[in-house]
Amino acid sequence: MVRVHVFNRQGDLVGPVDSPKLILNDAQWRQRLTPEQFEVLRSSGTERPFCGALLDNKMKGVYTCAGCGLPLFSSDAKFHSGTGWPSFFQPIAEGNVAQKHDHSYGMSRTEINCARCDGHLGHVFDDGPRPTGLRFCLNSASLNFTPSEKLATLADPAAGTAGLQKSRAPMQETKAQPQQAGSETQSHSFGAMQTAVFAGGCFWCTEAVFEQLEGVSDVESGYAGGAEETANYERVCDGDTGHAEAIRITYDPNRISYDRLLDVFFDSHDPTQLNRQGNDYGAQYRSAIFYADEQQKQVAQAKIAQLTQSHAFSKPIVTTLEPLAAFYTAEQYHQNYARNNPLQPYIQAAAIPKVCKIREKHPGLLKKNSAAGAT
Ligand code: FE
Repeated sequence: MVRVHVFNRQGDLVGPVDSPKLILNDAQWRQRLTPEQFEVLRSSGTERPFCGALLDNKMKGVYTCAGCGLPLFSSDAKFHSGTGWPSFFQPIAEGNVAQKHDHSYGMSRTEINCARCDGHLGHVFDDGPRPTGLRFCLNSASLNFTPSEKLATLADPAAGTAGLQKSRAPMQETKAQPQQAGSETQSHSFGAMQTAVFAGGCFWCTEAVFEQLEGVSDVESGYAGGAEETANYERVCDGDTGHAEAIRITYDPNRISYDRLLDVFFDSHDPTQLNRQGNDYGAQYRSAIFYADEQQKQVAQAKIAQLTQSHAFSKPIVTTLEPLAAFYTAEQYHQNYARNNPLQPYIQAAAIPKVCKIREKHPGLLKKNSAAGAT
């Protein structure tokens, strides 16, 4: 574990929080990185000066580790050093950038590394500007850049719920945040944590159901199955965008398995209703499992076969199995909706009964301090 600062779903830097070290072998790193990134991050290479893509980048935003996505530097600390490499006078947070002495090539220098994945970033020298007098000399290939208006896309599972209270604004409209499959934040498996995406009707309800489970660190409401351009509540409500209201569950597979999550999924909605849940009609309310990989697909297929064979439902299961192309986080006021609006009639009528049903049926899966009213 490392103690670092990360971004939460609001785009706020929070911490320090504990995050697992990311440890991969060379073959895994090669799959994940470009040859240039591998050369710098994993072989302590140095790119040629005046050649890096981020040298002259003057946009406002944050530079993250190209290996693991950890925030490393803010554009506020970037300065023109004339050396030919991107230069900063301080890291974005103490603890995110590690230092160690480097005596290679007959020089005595201080190497800087990503604290989470140990990726080589560059070196730090004491000839920088005020206020620190330091010059963090970076390789562009070790960094990714995210502009200020998209910081929420850097949301890290390690953030948990840190910092969410202070900026909660239930009716504030913000654009859905697209997170493409394969990007750092969309990754199905991040360190020890994994993600699962399910659609089982109104996401206000399904989010509340899964929030109460032990081993689940985060549940987000969003949209899956359609395109980025129409991934907003107004368009999805039309029912013709291909999206389903979905949730993305971040969980610790050592504490709750994908198989158990599927048990809760099938117990918390009616998988025999086609393009509908209760009084909510339309393809956006369909029952669907968005699998991230072949393993999730096989576990889900086996679960449906088992439920069918045991006649768990009186009618055929119509849940669709769909490959997860992207998950789009819904507008802010949809997040934690049941928890923020426990007295709202729809929540009382639709969400609370589902939450209570799971509490009765799966008492062993609940967080120790969870209560129905606190979902
Ligand atoms: Fe890293």
